[in-house]
Amino acid sequence: MHDAVAQIRNFGIVAHINAGKTTLSERILFDCGRVRFLGEVDEGTAALDYLPEEQRRGISIRAASTSVAWRDYRLNLIDTPGHVDFSAEVARSLRVLDGTVLVLDGVRGVEPQTEAVWRQTRAAGLSSIVFVNKLDRPVANWARVLDTMRLRLRVQVLPVVVPIVGDTGLVGLIDVVTGARQEWESGGAPAFDLALARSQLVEAAADFDPAVMGDFVLDRTVDVPRLRAALRRGVVAGQLTLAFAGSALRNRGVEALLDGVGWFLPSPLDRSPVLGLSGGTRAARDDEPVCAQVFRSFVEDDVSLLAVRVYSGRIDTASVLARSDQTAEFTVREVSRLHADHREVIASAGPGDIVALAGAPEDVPVGATLFAPGHRIVLALTRFPLPVLSVALEPRQADDLAAVQAAAQKLTRADPTLALRSDEARGALLLCGIGELHLEIAAERIRAVVGDRFRVGLPEVACRESVRRAAAGHGEWRIAELAARASVHLRLVPAKDSGPASVQLDSRLRGNEVADRLAQQIAGRLRGSLREGWPAFDLEVHIDRMDGQVGPDVDVLPLYVEAAEVALRRALVEADPVVLQPMASVEVTCPHDALSPVLGDLRGKDVDILAIDVDGDHACVRGKVPLGKMLGYSTRLRSLTRGLGSFHLEAAGFAP
Ligand code: GDP
Ligand code: MG
Repeated sequence: MHDAVAQIRNFGIVAHINAGKTTLSERILFDCGRVRFLGEVDEGTAALDYLPEEQRRGISIRAASTSVAWRDYRLNLIDTPGHVDFSAEVARSLRVLDGTVLVLDGVRGVEPQTEAVWRQTRAAGLSSIVFVNKLDRPVANWARVLDTMRLRLRVQVLPVVVPIVGDTGLVGLIDVVTGARQEWESGGAPAFDLALARSQLVEAAADFDPAVMGDFVLDRTVDVPRLRAALRRGVVAGQLTLAFAGSALRNRGVEALLDGVGWFLPSPLDRSPVLGLSGGTRAARDDEPVCAQVFRSFVEDDVSLLAVRVYSGRIDTASVLARSDQTAEFTVREVSRLHADHREVIASAGPGDIVALAGAPEDVPVGATLFAPGHRIVLALTRFPLPVLSVALEPRQADDLAAVQAAAQKLTRADPTLALRSDEARGALLLCGIGELHLEIAAERIRAVVGDRFRVGLPEVACRESVRRAAAGHGEWRIAELAARASVHLRLVPAKDSGPASVQLDSRLRGNEVADRLAQQIAGRLRGSLREGWPAFDLEVHIDRMDGQVGPDVDVLPLYVEAAEVALRRALVEADPVVLQPMASVEVTCPHDALSPVLGDLRGKDVDILAIDVDGDHACVRGKVPLGKMLGYSTRLRSLTRGLGSFHLEAAGFAP
């Protein structure tokens, strides 16, 4: 038997780093009987942080996914990485989920990455419930955390669980809907007025059920299942945010949260049908043609696997699937549920399931849609941030290059925010990514495959080039002894936010084979460098005219390429070329007494300071800065604040 779609919950756990996502996930695995001992992040034994790089650093890098049964529900949960360098992992996980649990640190409240993942959750159209964690710490302040949410996330959160707090911290919890109390120690007091909490809930729920509205107006007691159902409608509609509370570390409040996931977060049916960019819609039903999307591609025990979300139809061993990126079809060899570090083979997967498929070719990219042959549908892709930093990988011996390149290519296929370029001048490879930690870990993974066969350079920013004005240029190339001549007229036109430079042919040149090949050559050349060694962006090259004369046995293309090069250089002189460097928004938090050295240092880095907030002992500085100025900042900040400062960088476009 397979799970009824209405009982499936696909949710992600999202938070700022260190809020306790992994600890919470481990408790969930334990409570659902998935593991028999409790893994600890601090001891490097967390089942979900299974990559060696994660266990050593005590952080999660890859979005691990796992599937558990809880009461009547099938929970597919994804523990996402908190560090901003891995935000693409978060984005692509959100794409296949129906809801999130936002974990907040009960002491620190809303942090920079909390805001970022909250924005991502909303942008992906997902519903969210909140877990206020670490309430076992005596310094935790539950009410203040909810206030920071109202203030910084501008969301009205309603408690459905109220903590009972004693001198030692969290001693019990009260379920606001039923009034049930659970106490581990005596002597505590509820952190909020219960009657008030319940009437707030009823009032909010009234908007989603006229019967609840009637009871509310007449001051009658609302029946529990009815109240939950109305709240669920509000959460599914993205209009209510409910807050749970507890301590993941002490395993308190986790079961109530799991019940809440079942009661309040959407099932795949609530989000059905899915709409393709082309190919219409698919409802979450077994009898619709298969439609699934790949959200991760990885290798485990030498088997190459695709992690997919199934939107419609059933996939079993021997299903034949077509893919959106190529015409070839393939046969599924195995369907399995993912359990962080191992797979459980199952007979089939249906609508709403998140599973791994074996049998697909290795080159199926993340984001591809898989569908039943003859029922083509293409789902939208997640847009990923483009790499802004690079490090050189320098092979120690000339013959090490190929091995390093092969290992690096494998990584870039699985991670769309990594890119590989070759730097021929240095005889090195350039690995490009979105942050220092991102690149450091990528280099470690390559080293794990090929050993110490390369050196890693210091991180450098990846700039871009563009032009500020439209300009035309003409170029000619002759070879006298062959009596050959080629001439090209082209124009450079700035095109804001259009991405990598593109080449367009005049309508009279379309369908001309030589012109097509020339356009491809120029496009390739622009991906390498416009003028100063950086790829060209936000720019269109229009080829307006080509003419020439060549003998019968001469290949004309190289002549046109040379002529186009001359034309391009001439046009560039007029077009006001500019090098653009990546910018970042930065947020630095430090103890109040370290504020002036921190500020002094930031001013020295050309940071455009936008705000300084002082809250008790802590100060927070926000600003905008060229990313290149912030390389190595973690070490710098540590010494300026005796290790007490923290910072958050987020890519913020490009500027001259
Ligand atoms: P993540 O980065 O969000 O995955 O956070 P982790 O689960 O790795 O936890 C970060 C740190 O917070 C670890 O040292 C945990 O032991 C600690 N931690 C997590 N949950 C709690 C909690 O409920 N109470 C306390 N006191 N510490 C916690
Ligand atoms: Mg973690």
